[in-house]
Amino acid sequence: MTEQEINNIRADFPILTEQVYNKPLIYFDNAATTQKPQAVLDRINYGYKHLNANIHRGVHYLSQKATEAHEEARKYVAHFINATSSSEVIFTRGTTEAINLVAFSFGECCCRAGDEIIISMMEHHSNIVPWQMLCERKGMRLRVIPINEKGELRLDVFGELINENTRLVAVTQVSNVLGTVNPVKEIIQTAHQRNIPVLIDGAQAVPHIQVDVQELDADFYVFSGHKIYTPTGIGVLYGKREWLERIPPYQGGGEMIQTVTFEKTTYNELPFKFEAGTPDYIGSTALAEALKYVENIGIQKIAAYENELTAYATAELMKIEGMRIFGTSEHKSAVISFLVGNIHPYDIGMLLDKLGIAVRTGHHCAQPLIDHLGIPGTVRASFSFYNTKEEVDIFIAALKRVIGMLG
Ligand code: PLP
Repeated sequence: MTEQEINNIRADFPILTEQVYNKPLIYFDNAATTQKPQAVLDRINYGYKHLNANIHRGVHYLSQKATEAHEEARKYVAHFINATSSSEVIFTRGTTEAINLVAFSFGECCCRAGDEIIISMMEHHSNIVPWQMLCERKGMRLRVIPINEKGELRLDVFGELINENTRLVAVTQVSNVLGTVNPVKEIIQTAHQRNIPVLIDGAQAVPHIQVDVQELDADFYVFSGHKIYTPTGIGVLYGKREWLERIPPYQGGGEMIQTVTFEKTTYNELPFKFEAGTPDYIGSTALAEALKYVENIGIQKIAAYENELTAYATAELMKIEGMRIFGTSEHKSAVISFLVGNIHPYDIGMLLDKLGIAVRTGHHCAQPLIDHLGIPGTVRASFSFYNTKEEVDIFIAALKRVIGMLG
């Protein structure tokens, strides 16, 4: 991307002109959540100003318009991830809710005592705990794919973990700590050879990588809107039709029913079967707007630029004495986790903050991985297409200053 293009993009994100402690904000916490462009903020405003009525059950004009907008948004999401049909796109509150939905509903229909679920060492808590809860509920076992010293999945061990008791494999496409981009297509192929379905956690992938659920042949694919330039509170569960039809509803309530009597309820068709209660029909349109924004720039272009920025930052960081970077795979996304000497990550984060630089410190909701690495946590810088090399330079200079103060 040219400097002009990046400047134009930056101008679309009002928050980037904010000052913190009288310093220009440098926002390197994009893996936690991304900032929102004006077009998305405008779409929310427009929705509440002109199109606000509860959807699906109204005969009146506004309700129909709001319903149309919500369903158009669903179609756009389906297009963005190349789902076969928009009825395979379920709106959820985010990745976490989508995984909980599958863990509950798949668990109900398809799991029993003695069965096993395979996850990996680098999962976010939201792709660990729901499966653990399922295992406790049903008397099942969680199996974990280990990682190598570069922070890559040990696929050789994965092959050994799969057996006749395996019911499902749930892995992240991109690690939120290591930045590793996992070979999920290969993982899916291996699992499918044994007729085992696979859930892919796409929370860190969708903002940075072209995702095609049909090409991947994923059975379930989940992501959060807020990590791809949308407000919080909306996310997506993609599921293959055959699975969504087979698994029972997650929550009961309005919208998800066809008929209700005190004796028996019949359920609505897809996707509504999984959307109990009033959905976030403004959030869905904001999500579609954000995806359009990304698509207009071009995800390949975004990936190329972010990779360049990450490589530049990595090279600069490596020049610092005592630097340890966690996650050194050749297949990496825009996340760098590091430690310097014996300095506690929290101290680095606190002091960088005072210099206007937002990074994240701690276990990044991946405590088992951090424990495995035998460290107290990391400092994590994560980039978006609105970040610049100049910001990286300021960050590196600030980090050196901080190390000087703490070292
Ligand atoms: N999975 C990964 C890989 C993540 O990075 C995150 C958030 O950081 C989540 C899941 C959870 O996402 P959310 O909190 O939006 O549900």
